[in-house]
Amino acid sequence: MWARKKIDITWSDLLFGAWRTCFPPDRTRTAQGVESPWPNPEHTLACLSVRSGFDLLLAAMALPRDSEVLVSAITIPDMIRIVEHHGLIPVPVDLDPQRMSPTPDAWQAAVTRATRAIVIAHLFGGLADMEPLLEMARRHNLLVIEDCAQAFGGTGYQGHPDADASMFSFGVIKAGTALGGAVLRIRDSGLLRRMRAMQAAYPVESRWRYVKHLAKAAGFKALGYGPLCSLFVCVCRTIGWDYDQWVNRAARGFPGDGLFAQLRRQPSASLLAVLHRRLRNHDPCRAERHAAKGKALASALRESVACPGATVVPHTYWVFPVLVEEPKRLIERLARAGYDATQGQSLCVVHAPKDRPGQSPVVAEGILAKAVFLPFYPELPHRESQRMAEVLLRNIVDP
Ligand SMILES: *Cc1c(COP(=O)(O)O)cnc(C)c1O
Repeated sequence: MWARKKIDITWSDLLFGAWRTCFPPDRTRTAQGVESPWPNPEHTLACLSVRSGFDLLLAAMALPRDSEVLVSAITIPDMIRIVEHHGLIPVPVDLDPQRMSPTPDAWQAAVTRATRAIVIAHLFGGLADMEPLLEMARRHNLLVIEDCAQAFGGTGYQGHPDADASMFSFGVIKAGTALGGAVLRIRDSGLLRRMRAMQAAYPVESRWRYVKHLAKAAGFKALGYGPLCSLFVCVCRTIGWDYDQWVNRAARGFPGDGLFAQLRRQPSASLLAVLHRRLRNHDPCRAERHAAKGKALASALRESVACPGATVVPHTYWVFPVLVEEPKRLIERLARAGYDATQGQSLCVVHAPKDRPGQSPVVAEGILAKAVFLPFYPELPHRESQRMAEVLLRNIVDP
């Protein structure tokens, strides 16, 4: 069975993490090491997670209560919780299914007098075109925040220099993961200074918590091996566990209650050390090969299967979703052919505020309802990706 996801970290990174947990380096110096490879290190901040950094950013921006924040209509639920927690109103802007981001006109149409900021997510690994959005935002005096959590790696993208904030995640399921950690690039030095001061007052995440993440990652790595994955799925079926839910719960960075208490922490020295190592050793060639494979799969399917955002350039193909009328049936067929696909429970569609029914994101809803995320990662050989394409094409002929 080709597992749905392979955690993107090596055994030697995990061993390094264990070593750095026992003998942690100097935290401040290691944080500087994480910030140094970005275009303006003095405008860069290492955080515990994108959610931590986003929470910090909104706190430091201190927008007036009930300001509207326009957001890409698909994101992870916590990002919306964070916006609301700061007394702001998230307003979804529907996606263009070809690009998996809102069109400049859609952003523009959602702006009201209460709008203060825009959060654009580069979904699935494809980079949205920032220029027209930035131009529109400048006209309306809006802040632009880029959520690059899904777009690190292959493209070499490090955030748009004119965006007010660009956020990169190194959480467990992300490309180049450090089992947590995030890098935020902040354009305004005053804003960044406030964020740094606020973050410095947070407690430091315990390194023993990082041990837990290391152990979990070792488990995920084991499950990434075909035979172990098949065995695990089989055991789950036998004892009546929902494998899908189990994996999603286990992959969650901040489980349970008290989200904000968990977010408001500084990254530990061990986490920063692993993140620094991941950034230093990042292999652009491997990422490029993977992107080429994604392009090939997209063109094999293009005529017959809807692949949202698959033709966006540049693209890392962090995930590869296809849209079908009966996702469950396709997942079963793929499972029989040896591919563990999923409906992807970690993303959500953002609801429109009651007084803005026109912003209801119907396209985004359709996409998430029909999406099947294929197992697709650098370790999947080209011939397997072609065989998977054949299963998908047969599914069209015989729906
Ligand atoms: C993963 C993800 C996040 C959160 O990143 P963390 O570093 O885990 O907080 C935010 N937005 C999107 C679109 C994501 O995919």
